[in-house]
Amino acid sequence: MTDYKAPVRDIRFVRDEVFDYPALWKSLPGCEEVTPDLVEAVVDAMATFCEDALVPLNQSGDEEGCTWTKDGVTTPSGFKEAYKAYAESGWAGLTSPEQYGGQALPPSMESVLNEFAGSANWAWSMYPFLAKGARATILAHGTQDLIDTYVPKMVAGQWTGTMCLTEAHCGTDLGMLRTKAEPNADGSYALSGSKIFISSGDHDMVDNIVHIVIARLPDAPVGTKGISLFLVPKYLPNADGGLAANGVSCGSIEHKMGINANATCVINFDGATGFLLGELNRGLNCMFTFMNAARVGTAIQGIAHGELALQNAVKYARERLQMRSLSGPKNPDGPADAIIVHPDVRRMLLTIKSLTEGNRLFAHYLSSFLDIAKLSEEEAERQRAEDLLALLTPIAKGFMTETGFECASHGVQVFGGHGYISEWGMEQNMRDARIAMIYEGTNGIQALDLLGRKVLASNGKLLVGFVKEVRAWCEADSASSLKAERLPALTAALSQWQTLTQEVGVKALQNPEEVGAASFDYLMYSGYVVLAYLWLRAGEVAEEKCLEGGEGSDFYTAKLETTRFYFDRILPRIHTLAATISVGADSLMAMDESRFVVGLETD
Ligand SMILES: Cc1cc2nc3c(=O)[nH]c(=O)nc-3n(C[C@H](O)[C@H](O)[C@H](O)COP(=O)(O)OP(=O)(O)OC[C@H]3O[C@@H](n4cnc5c(N)ncnc54)[C@H](O)[C@@H]3O)c2cc1C
Repeated sequence: MTDYKAPVRDIRFVRDEVFDYPALWKSLPGCEEVTPDLVEAVVDAMATFCEDALVPLNQSGDEEGCTWTKDGVTTPSGFKEAYKAYAESGWAGLTSPEQYGGQALPPSMESVLNEFAGSANWAWSMYPFLAKGARATILAHGTQDLIDTYVPKMVAGQWTGTMCLTEAHCGTDLGMLRTKAEPNADGSYALSGSKIFISSGDHDMVDNIVHIVIARLPDAPVGTKGISLFLVPKYLPNADGGLAANGVSCGSIEHKMGINANATCVINFDGATGFLLGELNRGLNCMFTFMNAARVGTAIQGIAHGELALQNAVKYARERLQMRSLSGPKNPDGPADAIIVHPDVRRMLLTIKSLTEGNRLFAHYLSSFLDIAKLSEEEAERQRAEDLLALLTPIAKGFMTETGFECASHGVQVFGGHGYISEWGMEQNMRDARIAMIYEGTNGIQALDLLGRKVLASNGKLLVGFVKEVRAWCEADSASSLKAERLPALTAALSQWQTLTQEVGVKALQNPEEVGAASFDYLMYSGYVVLAYLWLRAGEVAEEKCLEGGEGSDFYTAKLETTRFYFDRILPRIHTLAATISVGADSLMAMDESRFVVGLETD
């Protein structure tokens, strides 16, 4: 079984010391009561809940999995009880409005809970987290009647929710969807169709599940312009508080690579009553409320698996004795040295550490813009936050899940053969991490969104805005020797990022395939540069604290050492990426489809 302690100290460093959330909240209306003491108490309570209630169910949930019968899905032993404790503690309403029973904390607090619960038990955490996205979508696009009927139950954790987009023949290309919504005389709609791969689509933890479904009206325009969004409950609430069946059923669950304790369902709608959210044929736009929040949540999945790999791999590497250090015994009284002395093991551990803690910086940098976008009274500040979120969300989703999986894989490798067997939990961590690169828009699609829509279609405006902010920080006076030492690498990477963008933009005018050919490497390049900026900010703070001396200096020294490792050994990956971005589409597109597999024809 994996060990896990929530990284409360690092969360405090990132949020309070690097990004100064207390000062941010002082400037935002509605956050008057969000004091450092309150936040500390909430974070500590989150840590306790995740460590005590969720960690013990992670491995057993994976082994037991979910069970389907025609009456519905049963979750693994203990899941229901953990959910009850979660709901009773008020975690479901952490950031929901007070008027619906929530605690109205700023949105960024979800990012902390998301990571802790995700490391503790990602499969379990998907049941409540999808509900939060569904609740946010109803609040943003539902009528007051729908809000009053559904939101308080979801805020209290009595009902959960899902996101129903995918159909068997369409996942990425939602314009092809077939689920039909036919108008009823009373203003509701009758939905018919079948959705697949619906996470948390059915389960036994609550009385009702509120599905957020995309479908098209019979006369809707073809493609994405004809998609509308509906709220379709598993059971329809009666006026007397009872629940009536609504033509929604779970046809089966998938048997899959990881997150086995989360039910991935076929959900059938058979004339089910649904209610329109937002305007007709504007469903995909409304769905973005759900998807953007979900994408930040999925990005954090990368941190969750990286942190689990880090904590367990470091412990193992300090205990496992194999071979002697190249520079002479470090444990002369023992039969061998601990494997943490070997440079190659340190390469893996520090790669996990620098990427995971770097991604945590990225997540809470991004989350601060969620708070500003929602709460600021200044129009210009809200717009700045929206612009940064638009640019950085696809980078975070793609980069953090790719590197989260890399970290989970290093976690397996540090354990050697023991990493590959189930006992230690490292192979489960890697299996669970893999899905994050696929759902919430595959990383290939995030990359196209970034380069095509966010960067080139805005004529570089969003990128220029971000680079300008980074350069302003670079140029600010600082006593930090670390900053002076590493600044040239960061500023060179920023300049190259802009040059590469221009190069691809010019080539794309001649050949549109150039965008798709460059996009994935461009996304990864962008992620490494964002992390370099954030590591240097963190390193500057840590250096100041080290100079002050006092308690906890090991923590800050480790930050300085990790910043140096990141700049020496991770950031240089951008040179390969720059080469593959620059080289263009030719060798990718030259091969005829028929030559991808040649010589295996049997007839
Ligand atoms: C465990 C699990 C949970 C899920 N949970 C949910 C859920 O809760 N709700 C929901 O609605 N869906 C869910 N999904 C579905 C998931 O979002 C889709 O699988 C995903 O969007 C990809 O769609 P697809 O599987 O149809 O792949 P396809 O769209 O067929 O894509 C196949 C490959 O082609 C690539 N590709 C396609 N088009 C392009 C293009 N234009 N340019 C470049 N590359 C392209 C893709 O990146 C991918 O690599 C889940 C899936 C799984 C496996």
